[in-house]
Amino acid sequence: MDQFFDARQRMVQDQLIGRGIKDQKVLDAMRNIKRHLFVDKKYWDRAYDDTPLSIPCSQTISQPYMVGLMTELIHPDEGKKVLEIGTGSGYQTAILAETCHKVYSVERHAELAGQARQLLDELDYKNIEIKIDDGTLGWEEKGLFDAIIVTAAAPEIPEQLVKQLMSHGKLVIPVGTQYRQNLELVLKRGESYIEKIICGCIFVPLIGRGGWAE
Ligand code: SAH
Repeated sequence: MDQFFDARQRMVQDQLIGRGIKDQKVLDAMRNIKRHLFVDKKYWDRAYDDTPLSIPCSQTISQPYMVGLMTELIHPDEGKKVLEIGTGSGYQTAILAETCHKVYSVERHAELAGQARQLLDELDYKNIEIKIDDGTLGWEEKGLFDAIIVTAAAPEIPEQLVKQLMSHGKLVIPVGTQYRQNLELVLKRGESYIEKIICGCIFVPLIGRGGWAE
């Protein structure tokens, strides 16, 4: 047991179950994974608070509820191959690795990708591949994916990502302006797709060919 065990159980009870997250796999993963390890030591006492926190390169680790919600929306299970765009701290990557079969994650900042890789190796995850690249183009060689989670805000749904989804695959993505977005669930149906708006949200911008200009 670590010093934040109780804080983590409270986070799951109050912030996740209390707001309607029901998926047992998601709840278990978030009870197990030590979120504090994914932030700088100076934030450890706030690591289980109901808030995003700063990570290097002016980016953020998402609020725990948002991580739980996005993961629940893809219906994770041990058969699924998923793509994450925006590795950041690697926290969402770890949740996906515990709940799905295989995780591919793309991060544009080499510093973040390197730190996340090191931590996820130390935690002994064997089912994660990370690459440094523009994730708005997806990861074509590894597709098609059962699900794609984008953890940065897009001006519109990146076409390449929809292309790399299997039919009946799910894409979860914040879409809107650089300051305010809607979290959308995109359901692929054949060559077309259906969009569902889940809730309002605020993410850092998705920067790249299928996102915002730098
Ligand atoms: N899932 C991460 C969220 C990090 S914030 C976590 O919880 O820690 C969003 C991340 O998306 C940032 O690390 C940012 O560098 C990255 N990002 C933004 N545009 C990107 C792009 N086009 N390709 C890959 N990563 C991108």
